[in-house]
Amino acid sequence: MEIKVRCARCGGTNVRLPEKLKENSIVACQSCGGRGKYGALKAQALTEAEGLFMGKLGELYKH
Ligand SMILES: [Zn+2]
Repeated sequence: MEIKVRCARCGGTNVRLPEKLKENSIVACQSCGGRGKYGALKAQALTEAEGLFMGKLGELYKH
């Protein structure tokens, strides 16, 4: 599953990732210039992906 890292400031996905990604790598947003630590943004992205997945599962069971 692809994880989309999103800018914590503007919510955009136009975020440039360094080649050697570490949890404490600083990633820079191309849209607003906001910076954040990859580890924190990744955790946020994972939570979102999980929520999306669970939401889809919920819809499956509804019918
Ligand atoms: Zn941004």
